[in-house]
Amino acid sequence: MSDTLFLDIIDRKIPADIVYETDQVLGFKDINAQAPHHVLFIPKQHVRTINDLTPATAGLVGELFLAAADYAKQQGVAEDGYRVVMNCNALAGQTVFHIHLHFLAGRAMTWPPG
Ligand code: AMP
Repeated sequence: MSDTLFLDIIDRKIPADIVYETDQVLGFKDINAQAPHHVLFIPKQHVRTINDLTPATAGLVGELFLAAADYAKQQGVAEDGYRVVMNCNALAGQTVFHIHLHFLAGRAMTWPPG
């Protein structure tokens, strides 16, 4: 799909339901929610896929996890549980080429995922 869609959301050029923000991370509701809580956490710095991470950008992934855990506490779902997922490239179903951590909560999850 797109390399720039999420950059446009960061720049507020296209609207999104933003629910979380730090200096390095933006969190907004997924437009096609797969759970009662479905938020995408993205770094403000552009990284296309997990394969493009470097030692210099790897810390951004930790920031995404910290944001997800903080958001889970804010929403009161941390103790019940939640799932975080990051897809990489075609077979995993990545459609937007700016790394993003899916945060899903509010229902029981199954394993293995589809
Ligand atoms: P992935 O398939 O892992 O690349 O996930 C991309 C996600 O972005 C999908 O779950 C889409 O529903 C979501 N998405 C696409 N466009 C938007 C948008 N404009 N606002 C919010 N979420 C979006």
